[in-house]
Order: sequence, then C-alpha cells, then structure tokens
Amino acid sequence: MKSLWSDAEAARFATDAGLRVYTSRLLGRDATLVLHGGGNTSVKLKQRNALGEEEDILLVKGSGWDLETIEEAGFAPVRMAHLTRLARLESLTDPQMMNELATQVTRAGSPAPSVEAILHAILPYKFVDHTHADALLAVTNTTDGEHRAREIYGGDTVIVPYVMPGFDLARQCARLFAAESGPGTIGMVLVNHGIFSFGGTARESYERMIALVARAEAYLARHGAWALPQPKSDAGAQTLRLDLARLRREISDCAGFPLVLATHAAPKFLDFARRKDIVTLSQQGPATPDHVIRTKRIPMLGRDVGAYAAAYREYFNRHAPAAREPKTMLDPAPRLILDPEFGMGCVGRTAKDARIVHDIYSHTLDVILRAAALGGYRALPERDIFDVEYWDLEQAKLKKAGTPPVFAGEVALVTGAASGIGKACVESLLHRGAAVIGLDVNPGIAQLMGARADFLGLRCDVTSERELADALESGVRAYGGLDMLVLNAGVFPGGQRIDALASDEWRRVMRVNLDANLALMRECHPLLKLAPRGGRIVVIGSKNVPAPGPGAAAYSASKAALTQLARVAALEWGADGIRVNTLHPNAVFDTAAWTDEVLAARAAHYGVTVEEYRKGNVLRVEVTSRDVAELAAEMCGPLFAKTTGAQVPVDGGNERVI
Ligand code: ZN
Repeated sequence: MKSLWSDAEAARFATDAGLRVYTSRLLGRDATLVLHGGGNTSVKLKQRNALGEEEDILLVKGSGWDLETIEEAGFAPVRMAHLTRLARLESLTDPQMMNELATQVTRAGSPAPSVEAILHAILPYKFVDHTHADALLAVTNTTDGEHRAREIYGGDTVIVPYVMPGFDLARQCARLFAAESGPGTIGMVLVNHGIFSFGGTARESYERMIALVARAEAYLARHGAWALPQPKSDAGAQTLRLDLARLRREISDCAGFPLVLATHAAPKFLDFARRKDIVTLSQQGPATPDHVIRTKRIPMLGRDVGAYAAAYREYFNRHAPAAREPKTMLDPAPRLILDPEFGMGCVGRTAKDARIVHDIYSHTLDVILRAAALGGYRALPERDIFDVEYWDLEQAKLKKAGTPPVFAGEVALVTGAASGIGKACVESLLHRGAAVIGLDVNPGIAQLMGARADFLGLRCDVTSERELADALESGVRAYGGLDMLVLNAGVFPGGQRIDALASDEWRRVMRVNLDANLALMRECHPLLKLAPRGGRIVVIGSKNVPAPGPGAAAYSASKAALTQLARVAALEWGADGIRVNTLHPNAVFDTAAWTDEVLAARAAHYGVTVEEYRKGNVLRVEVTSRDVAELAAEMCGPLFAKTTGAQVPVDGGNERVI
C-alpha cells in the first residue's frame, strides 16, 4: 500500500473542495481500497448563502458517483448544523434520514448525500476518508477479527463492532468516538465493514488511510497470510457453450427476465472453485455487507439453479418476518457461480453489472484466502447481510430504477461488424441494452467500441467453420448465450457479366454470402433455441433479390439463395420460437466500399449528380447504414414479435420492387 500523492497533480486543485476531489480519486484509483461506488469521503467548509450568512457545510460524496472519477459536482453540500442535531436524536428511520439529508442540501440538482453523511458530520475533523480496504477486511472477517483489529490499531483508532450502515451506525460511532478517542486518534475501524481516516488537510487524511491499511497488510505478512498461492489450474479446451447457454436460460427463467452470464476461467478462479473447502469458504457471505446488492449473499456452487433458488426463498422467509416493514422478495436467481469446470460465472442484468460482480469477487476471493490463512474466514451472520440486502434504501432504489432497455440481459451476434451496416447494427443493438459479439475479418474489430463490458470484437473469417466455432465458444463464455443473430457479412464483387464470370469468383462469393451463413445458422440454432425470449435472426439481403441487375450474377444469386435459406429457416425453426426475417437494403453509400471517387464515377456513368444518384429512389431520400441497422434492431424487438419469414425493403422505394 503506497501513497499516490503527487505535489504536481495536487497543484492543479487549489481549493479544499478541489483537493477533496483529488484525494478521493487517489483512493478510487486503488481497487484494493474501494470498488464500484464503494467508500465515501467528505470535507467541512464554510459557505456564504444568498442572505450573506456564513454556514458550515459538509461536502460529502453523493450516491451514484465512483471515487475514481468523481468531480466537484459529485459531492453534495449539506448543512452541518442540521446534521449534528440529527445525530443527537434517539432514533430515525433510514428513509426519514434520507429525507432530512435531501432537504438540507444547499445546491439544487446535487446528488443524494451518502447514507454515511451523519457519520462524517460527527467526526471533528476537516477531512474524512472511508474505504472498504481488502487488507482490513481480511483481518476483521476472521473468528477473532475484533481482537486482531485492537492488536493492530488499538492505540490510535476507535474500534467499532459491526452495526448496519445508516443512522444506527452513525449514533454508535458518535458514542464510541466520544468515549474512546483522544488527541492521537487518526482513524476508526468498522469491524467487518471498512475503515475511516481523518485529518486537517486532504493529504493528511489520505496518507493516514494509506498508513492504516499498510499496517493491516504488514500484520497479514507477519502471520504468513499476505502472499497468495500461485494459481495453477488449467482451463482445458472443452466445448462448453451449450452447457452455458442452458445454464443461462435456467437462471433467466428463475429471475423472470434475461440475464447475461459472463464466465471467467482464469486459473485463480478455477483453483478456488476446485478447493476441497470451497463450501466453508464460499458459503458464508460477502467481505463487506454492501457487496450483497451485486453478488447476493453467497455464490451458487455448481449448476443446480432450482436448489439455489429454493435455499434463497428459505433465507428470505427466515428473515423477512423480523424486518421493521414488509419486504418484497427479490428474484431468487444467483449472481455468482463457482464451478470446477468453467471457473467463475458472473450474472447481471447488463454486461457491465456482470463485470462489477467479477471485480468484486476477485477481491473477495483474495480477502477470503488471506483470512483463511490467518486462521479462518468468518463473514457476518446471514441476518446482518439480509438487513443490508433488504435495506429500505436499497429497496427504494430498486423501485425507482425504472424500465430497463428493451434488450437488457440479451446477447446479439453481428457478422461483418467492423464497418458499414454491420457496425451500425452493433451500435443500434448496444443502444437497446444488448451485449454484442462482433465478428469481422478485420483485426480492428477488437477495438471497434473501445474498452466496454458489453462489446466483444472477435477477428473471424466466417468462411472457416473452425474459426466460427471458436468465435461462438468465446462469445458464449463472455455473455452466456445467444438471443439475436444478424447475418450481415458479405462481399460485393465488381460488375462482371455471366459470359466472363469465372467459376472461382462465383464460388468465392457463394462461400461468403451463402455457405458461411448456413454454417453460422446451423451452429447458432441450439443456442438461439435456448434464448429466454426466443431467438431472432435478421438477414441482410439486398434489393437485388427482388430486382437483380446486370453484371451482378454471383451477388444477386447468393443473396437470393440466402433469402430462400432464411425463409426455410423461418418454417423449420418457428416451433423453436425462433423468428427469421430479411431486410433488403439498396444504395447504402456510407460504407467503406463507396468512396467519394466511386460515387462520383457511378453518378457520371448514369449522367446524374452525386446528390441525385444518392437519392435515386421513389421517396428521394438517402438510405444510410443507420437506417438499415435501426430496422434490423427493431425486427429483433417486440414490434415484430409476431412476424417471421418476412422480407422488408429499406431502399427509399424502388419502382422495380414496388
Ligand atoms: Zn462503508
């Protein structure tokens, strides 16, 4: 644990609020301190209001912001006077507390203050930092965690036995702090939860956090519990895609909506999933309570979704009756799976959610292994975890969450995805919430969308059945299955009359435009059959199917055969709930093939301007890749739920087709 403070970087932040932003980001940069919205920070300032009065303000992290990327707008300014009075109340429900916090904010449009705002307010220091440091959790999630914490921190921190976050925790901290703190106090340890540091300056508070966490690391090292075992498991080369798609289907059915299942076969996860003591280690609970919202209390071991759901219902029924107000059960599907064959499975409503589960459990696993080496991992009792999972504030958040995008939890595959209509299809599907696998011969496909959890770009020559099978295996391991397939990859060879058409050229066009699609449809069929909402295929045909042109024999014949293939698939696979529809675009010029020169040459060939050539259709409109892609995406959506075997032109109207 090293301080990341840099005088040069800090110099860019002049004010206390600015430095608060800076050191918050420093904490956020280290994933062993905080993860995905975890932790919070504050600074106490004076502010003049519109009446000219000076007020004491707590600038505290707002909910929904990550420390790593926080800005000044991510902090909520709350009136200190009210917070300190609230802290003296005997009791306050958490929704009441949130209401009080929201109504004491001095800037309209600021985010909701952290639920730990009152706790920050009662600590008599200008800067306060709070993290869920891995090392601290490894030390305190043990049979004698509180004792160990006293051993490490006794002299200069206040140790607080576990209390659920919220008003009760703030009160408990206030009480213990008043009784136990002294002039040398620099922090506060919340057993099984995290750690606070404080100071007169942003740097002092931050450096103290680093020093406190480093002490826990040193303690672990002294007890032979710091170095993690070298992972050694081998993933093997077995084909798992059908098993995974079946599992994802069961999990989605159990949840009542489609979910992404991202698997991770890194040796670290395989080793863990294959441990003999995996039940003891994994079936206790999370390393810090707020992870429960992402991972559920415990992972599913193996693949028995029914048994997991039944156990979850029992857990709910054991604890819900004792809650302060009636609770609604969340879906009982697992969010985390440990399996000796595929390693770790992370489940989420979106690929990003699944990525968060991965990040959290990667750290949890280190915490568990270190705590085990220290003498035994011991998480909080399930009652405490239930209270956080079903906390009023979390339940309210879920109710507020609104309708997810139409393809949330679903997976699409697009061929020829690196440019033109294919790339536009990727964008339209991502925009509707799907996770997308993009295939293309162009290696640039890997970076097409930058680094984001919901896109996997794979270099693949679709005419190679071997490469297709590998791509499907990688795609399903990344997202758990396949719901939508957009057959877009194709070649448009230069104009050639039949009397000059070489057989090799004919076969090349057929291989890409026709044969590859047969192979892909055949291999995807068992996956699409398992799609929670039914599989969908969209075929990118061509205006040349209903209205061919001279010089395009191979292209027109290949697209016509592909259209016929799609119609037969619609007939054969209707009973499997798979819809197959075809689009016939024409004159889509914003693709790589149509450079300005080519366009100018074609326009000249027909004796019209480029503008006239672009809009040479009945409606006199230009048809773009995006127009085609949006229609392709809609064809996968509820609007076309009862349509299969259809052919829809997207060409601005063509006299020969009409
Ligand atoms: Zn916390």
